[in-house]
Amino acid sequence: FTGKTGSELLTEKIKQFKVYEYQSIPIVVKESVSVYEAISTMFLEDVGTLFVVDDKSHLCGVLSRKDLLRATIGQKDLNQIPVHIIMTRMPNITICRKEDLLIDVAKILIEKQIDGVPVVKDTQDGFEVIGRVTKTTITKAFVELTMDKR
Ligand code: ADP
Repeated sequence: FTGKTGSELLTEKIKQFKVYEYQSIPIVVKESVSVYEAISTMFLEDVGTLFVVDDKSHLCGVLSRKDLLRATIGQKDLNQIPVHIIMTRMPNITICRKEDLLIDVAKILIEKQIDGVPVVKDTQDGFEVIGRVTKTTITKAFVELTMDKR
């Protein structure tokens, strides 16, 4: 008997959840694609956030549903607008790494009022996108707590 309360045990459990155990597959588009293509990708891949990469496959931007919705207002030809002019760009992108604690990423999502962050790997001259953590990821981990799997 450890003498720990139920809530202490629960807290301990939550603090063991790592990003790499829960991260999902990132959906990325190139910065040269059009707003039209990005919208199609968002529907086809069934995600709410797209990550944008440059020619070297390094993270350079983020596209949310509202970024794309905003870009469509009053625009005639969505095939003519490249996503790099409307995306949120580096260095203003909030990222996480696979060894981070899921609870820390959850706090960041709330603080920054965003739906998701890319999981990145550091390379010599930029970030490689290797995963995605979203509010859905956090919801799944939350539900798993009640399933007694761990
Ligand atoms: P929505 O805009 O559809 O409500 P979000 O709340 O995720 O979705 O995005 C709000 C704004 O924050 C958007 O302009 C988006 O580009 C930006 N954003 C989303 N995720 C990130 C991130 N990881 N880092 C920086 N900015 C982000």
